[in-house]
Amino acid sequence: MAIQPIRLFGDPVLVTPAALVTDFDKEIRQLVADLMETMHDAPGAGLAAPQIGVPLRVFVWDINDETGHLINPTLDLSAEMQDGEEGCLSFPELVYETPRAFKAVAKGFNMHGEPVTIEGTELLARCLQHETDHLNGVLFIDRMKSDQRKLAMKEIRESEWFSAASSSGLNPQIKISPHNTRGLGL
Ligand code: ZN
Repeated sequence: MAIQPIRLFGDPVLVTPAALVTDFDKEIRQLVADLMETMHDAPGAGLAAPQIGVPLRVFVWDINDETGHLINPTLDLSAEMQDGEEGCLSFPELVYETPRAFKAVAKGFNMHGEPVTIEGTELLARCLQHETDHLNGVLFIDRMKSDQRKLAMKEIRESEWFSAASSSGLNPQIKISPHNTRGLGL
């Protein structure tokens, strides 16, 4: 088991759709363990494999004292929406109002290749949507209303982690622990 560096906004892996998992082997179980350990170290409430540079459809969460993982998820969303703040471990320190469906039903597989269904409302539903988005190369800034997104982009450009990467010409790829996202880092 090993804690992995969390990739930050600006890294191309975060906007690249991840591949389906086809072999539920030892490597996948190791990936789930690494994701879980990295999420808890941050600390965060959710983490998707692309956030540690692995382009596979796998994510983990720790919400309301329950941990879980899901592989190759598909989502069914309620028409009813929820308002609320959301953070992302790939955007250190930043938390924004992000509209999401109130309820989500996620179908996928566990690390042994067995089918599982996860149902959640409120923060768990938000997490299932946020992490599945990561697997499609979609980020929470893409889900914000336009005025909120404008403010977020301004604060991202002004942030130390983003401007340091821009001026060096390198991808931001640093691990900042602890992540101060008030338990909302997904
Ligand atoms: Zn995220």
